[in-house]
Amino acid sequence: MNKRVRLRFAPSPTGPLHIGGVRTALYSYLYAKQKGGDFLLRIEDTDQTRFVPGAEEYIIESLNWCGIKIDEGVSVGGKHAPYRQSERKELGMYKKYAEQLIASGHAYYAFDSAEELDAVRKEAEINKQSFSYNAQNRGHLRNSLSLPANEVETLLTTNNYVIRLKVEANEEIHLKDLIRGDVKFNSNIVDDKVLLKSDGMPTYHLAHIVDDYLMEITHAVRGEEWLPSAPAHVLIYQYLGWTDLMPQYAHLPLLLKPDGNGKLSKRDGDRLGFPVFPLEWKDPSSGEISSGYRERGYEPNAFVNMLALLGWNPGTEQEILSMNDLIEKFSFEHVHKAGAKFNPEKTLWFNTQYVHHMANEVLAEKLKTQVARALNLNENDALLQDNYLTTAASLIKPRVHFAHELFQTAPYLFEAPTMYDAAVVEKRWKQELQPFFEQLINDFKSIQEFTLANAEAQFKQSAANANLKPGDVLQLFRVILSGHGSGVDLFGMIALLGQEEVSTRINNALAHFKK
Ligand code: GLU
Repeated sequence: MNKRVRLRFAPSPTGPLHIGGVRTALYSYLYAKQKGGDFLLRIEDTDQTRFVPGAEEYIIESLNWCGIKIDEGVSVGGKHAPYRQSERKELGMYKKYAEQLIASGHAYYAFDSAEELDAVRKEAEINKQSFSYNAQNRGHLRNSLSLPANEVETLLTTNNYVIRLKVEANEEIHLKDLIRGDVKFNSNIVDDKVLLKSDGMPTYHLAHIVDDYLMEITHAVRGEEWLPSAPAHVLIYQYLGWTDLMPQYAHLPLLLKPDGNGKLSKRDGDRLGFPVFPLEWKDPSSGEISSGYRERGYEPNAFVNMLALLGWNPGTEQEILSMNDLIEKFSFEHVHKAGAKFNPEKTLWFNTQYVHHMANEVLAEKLKTQVARALNLNENDALLQDNYLTTAASLIKPRVHFAHELFQTAPYLFEAPTMYDAAVVEKRWKQELQPFFEQLINDFKSIQEFTLANAEAQFKQSAANANLKPGDVLQLFRVILSGHGSGVDLFGMIALLGQEEVSTRINNALAHFKK
């Protein structure tokens, strides 16, 4: 029987979640959902020195905003609770496995102090060598393999030791990575990693393996910065006798700066003016605020679509993909091995596409709030009625990148202009045109049904009657109605404003031009 597919996102609560982390979560979620499996959230907080208050809540809120639903884990619970590693440590979930490795001869106690290790490292540096705690060096260091048994006994009673993995020299280690295929390592490049720290906390190396094993994780997606440690992880699975249960690893390539030179960092975002975090984040110690996509007005589905395509493609040219499309089409085979360059313009393009494809009724709701707030209108105002707002939204929509820009892009659909684009007036207005516009008011009044098409046909007719080409008066007419030389579709605007408002605005403008 095939095992139920289970993937976890396992961030450390050390600050706001970088968009690279969101992508890791997203790919895990997409694959889990495609296979009808589970997506878990586990908090890896074993490094208490890097713990940042609020980071866990931030992670959960970010996933929620993106529409990544947590089936099991911190914030929702589940049969493998608790899902915070610090709490699991309290329950003694890790130590016994470190001890099991000691018992089977695959791990040992090490008593070297930080100062002692620093000194050895410095000495190696002086000799132009690099130091690694490994098979070659462990014999000269202070550990249960090098020291006499009675000394080890005594040292153990001080409770000041770490447990290290005993990596055999010169072994070949294989990893079948879902993105990189077969990867081979020689064990000589793997150091004797610390598994349990002197405060009794497991390191990432031990903790994630124990948890992935106990939580029945089948696939582990993580950043490629973990690839160099992967051979140690393969050995730990092997030494614990869990090789058959090892999840399939997928090491994701980095997100790169827009110019491709190195990893995308918060500083690039600040420098180039785009957020690298999904939500705004206020640093609890410095108070510094980093901007987020949500607060900038991005639609979560546009953000998710953009992120999914950073380093993956569906195998076709299709770019606009909903969460359901992504779930259906995601595959590790199409994740690129090379880093993905972040592209802020493309991110804006995605948002624009989503806004342009939003239903007018949905945008009308947002517009309503904007108009009511900006003009201090009450609910019953004619300008806030659904029909009016829906048509206004449809006219403005093609001109915005963000839904929050609707009102500010065409306030003239809601209030008559008081100023007129001086350059256009200067260039186009002539006193001789006054009779044409006065006649136009009357001509418009004779229209039975004041639709876009009828208004446009009448305008052309009236211009012809006055021996004018529409082009002579079109832009001027736009300025008369809106104050601006460019904007939403002119006859769409005319039909929306209606006969009466159009007449009023023409009269206002003519009076203004006369001054
Ligand atoms: N806590 C690790 C990190 O934040 C998780 C890596 C993994 O997913 O295994 O990088």
